[in-house]
This record gives sequence, C-alpha cells and structure tokens, in this order.
Amino acid sequence: MLNGSWSTMCTVFGLLLVLINLSARFFPVTSPFMQPDLAFDKEHIWHPYSSMTEPANVWPVVSAEGVRLKLEDGRELIDGMSSWWCAVHGYNHPVLNQAVRDQVEQMSHVMFGGLTHGPAIELGKRLVDMTPAGLEKVFIADSGSVSVEVAIKMAIQYQHAKGETGRTKLLALERGYHGDTLGAMSLCDPNRGMHHLFSGILPTQMFAPAPKTLFSEAWQAEDIEPLANMIKEHHQSLAALILEPVVQGAGGMRFYHPQYLKEARALCDRYGLLLIADEIATGFGRTGKLFACEYADISPDIMCVGKAITGGYMSLAATLATKHVADTISQGEAGCFMHGPTFMGNPLACRVACASLDLLMENDWKSQVTRLEKGLNKGLAPARDIAGVKDVRVLGAIGVIELDQPVDMKALQPACVEKGIWVRPFAQNFYIMPPFVMSDADLATLTSKMLEALNETL
Ligand SMILES: *Cc1c(COP(=O)(O)O)cnc(C)c1O
Repeated sequence: MLNGSWSTMCTVFGLLLVLINLSARFFPVTSPFMQPDLAFDKEHIWHPYSSMTEPANVWPVVSAEGVRLKLEDGRELIDGMSSWWCAVHGYNHPVLNQAVRDQVEQMSHVMFGGLTHGPAIELGKRLVDMTPAGLEKVFIADSGSVSVEVAIKMAIQYQHAKGETGRTKLLALERGYHGDTLGAMSLCDPNRGMHHLFSGILPTQMFAPAPKTLFSEAWQAEDIEPLANMIKEHHQSLAALILEPVVQGAGGMRFYHPQYLKEARALCDRYGLLLIADEIATGFGRTGKLFACEYADISPDIMCVGKAITGGYMSLAATLATKHVADTISQGEAGCFMHGPTFMGNPLACRVACASLDLLMENDWKSQVTRLEKGLNKGLAPARDIAGVKDVRVLGAIGVIELDQPVDMKALQPACVEKGIWVRPFAQNFYIMPPFVMSDADLATLTSKMLEALNETL
C-alpha cells in the first residue's frame, strides 16, 4: 500500500515536470537575453568610439541568421557590414556552430605555455598553406590590434638581434589604420587619428604620404618617390614599413595601385627594413584575392591576419613571419620572442577558424566574391548621379560611396534601419562589405535601399 501510493506520487510528480517543461517550451518566460535591458546599456555600457554622457543610438539584436540580423522588435535587417569584415559565411552557420559545439565538448581553453593542441596546430597548417610564400612561423594572437603589437615587437627584436639597435621606429602610411592599442594606434594616420590626444605617450613613428595612384588608374612612377626618399634618408632608424596592402580600410576605404606595393617591397629589401603587411581587413578573399598582397605578387616578411579568420564567431588573429625573421629573433639576446597572451591559441577560436577557412575553400570564395563584385558595381553605380556623391568604387566584395561631406550619421543610420538594411557609415564613406553568401536578390535590395536612404538624407 505504502509502495503503491509512493509510486503514484512519483508518476504524478513526473508528469508535472513534463508539463512544466512543455509549457516552458511553448510559452517561454521572456529572458533578458531576448529583451535586452536598454536602460542599463545606455547608463553603463561603452560602445565603440562612444560617449557615456551622450550615448548614440543602438539597436538591440536578438538573433542573426544567414545575412539577416533580427531586432528585438521583430524587424529583420539585411547585413551590409559582415560585422566589420568578419562574418563572411553569414550568421548562425550550421557548420561553424557544430565546430564550436564539438570543441566545447572537448575543451574550451587551456594555456598555451608548455601545452599544445590540435585546433592550434591545424589552424597553423592552414595559415602557412594559404598565405603568401615564405610565411612559415605562426604567432596566434587574440585580436587584430594585438597581432599588430606582436608584429611591431617582432620587427624591433629582429633588428636588435642583428645588432641594428638604432632601428627602433616604424614607417607607416598616412590614411592607414592598424588598430586601437597604443602601439597600433601610433601607426594610424597621424592627422585624422587621435595622436594629439596621446602625444608624449605614443611611440613616435614616421609617416609617408598615402599612395596617390588609384587601383583603377595607370601607375605613375613618381608616386613611390616620397616613400623612397624617406627610406633612403632614415633607414638607419627604421625597423620596418607597415601598410595595408591595396585597400586602406578605416583610413578612408581607398584602393591604391599594387605597383606601389611592389616598389615598397623592393625598397625594404634594399635598405634592410622588414615589410609588415596588415591583411586584417583585406585577408581571406575580401578584395578578390585570397590576400591583397597577391595583387602585387609579393610576400611580406611579417603578415597580420584577423577579422574574417573565425567567420565572425570569436576574436582571433595571427601574426605570420618568415623563417629568417623567426630564426634571427630566436638567436638574439633574448633567445625567444617576448610575448604570450593568456588566451593565446584558444582552442574554441582556433577550431572555428579551421572550420571557417575550410568553408571558404569549399564554398569557392573566389566565385562568391566575383559575383558580389558584379552586383555591387551594378547596384551602386546609380549613386554617381546623386548630388553630393564624390566617388563610387568597388573592389572584390567591398563597395564604397564616398560623399563630398562627412555622412550625417544621425539621419543616415536610422534611415537605413527603417529600410531594413544594416550599414554603418563613417566619415565620408557610405560603404558595405556583405557576407560572401549574400544572394544576388538580397544584394540588389541592400544597394537600392542604400541609394534610397542616401537620397532622402543628403
Ligand atoms: C580592424 C583592423 C585592425 C584591428 O583589429 P582589431 O581586431 O579591431 O583589434 C588592424 N588593422 C586593420 C587593417 C584593421 O582593419
């Protein structure tokens, strides 16, 4: 009897549990992750380049799928930004999701000092394979800016190891962008950047004028002269030249002539500077080549990659170097390279990066980008007729409408959201770099809505 009522109770209790579970499934309790606390955001959370006293508008996203971002109020936006060059395969990708799941079940993280693991090794193999010839040694970093810091330190340790202790400065290009940490920031455009705010703190570097000959123009031999003269005059204090190959991104979305890169390579060789290629934005197919260096058929001594490396899943970057650079550093006074982030080689990030790089190849990134280039050319061309538009240009899966004046962000950004597209302009540039998987139809909608938004707010 006692046993009977006990088992009845258990059955009833069990049924109750099942019902509670089912109801939670069909009538989900609203979670703060689905209904973000915007008041808290406004009061307490910094956003990129934002003010805490006059926070700019932010739109709450609750999920993303393919090329669409879903806002809290149910609206869907076609994504023109790939979350700042990263989400090349679109969002919520089953293959990338699975890679993360598989790795979580094995281990999310272990320190990289004294230990190693498959995800880091597999990522290293892929990077050595796909990057320009000669880049054989891989330093896995946790963000683009950190990979630039690592590149700077490598260049300086390299020169030091060679006994060139006077070569402590870097040469960079005006209109360049290399990141927001102090060392990287010291290499960004000195006039448009924040140099004056941090003067006395930032390392002082040297700057050559930005390349003038555009990608689409015939090469003008005198374009290399300013750089050549600076290197000739100052090479004894210069460890390296750093530049973004072919596309200067955040410094103005400028596309310059690959011959500049070829000549820069030759100058570095002649005067003993290392060449650092910052391919953080351009890498992994975005410009129509796997790496933009390929337009000039050159290999740098050091290369930074990041952004699209994990397909937008996690923060990860890498600095690759030649055997010569790595060996020289290793034979120097320190006997090793002096850097080692806590989250170096994070297995989750490395695993998803491997999956993302494999997808790039399986999806035939080249034909994806060629298709997008066509759609961008077609879709953005009519902007040339809009008053206030200075230039329209496309390279690979990058499309830029440059205005005469800085964009009116307060008007243009909400106008885009109203029209169901996500585009985040800066300075004079209203630009997009869509996920490689975007369909022709979505791209046509994206570009035509951009033109509408521009027409209404200019
Ligand atoms: C974004 C970017 C960086 C900085 O990368 P973070 O991951 O934001 O630190 C550096 N260089 C270039 C060319 C970039 O586009």
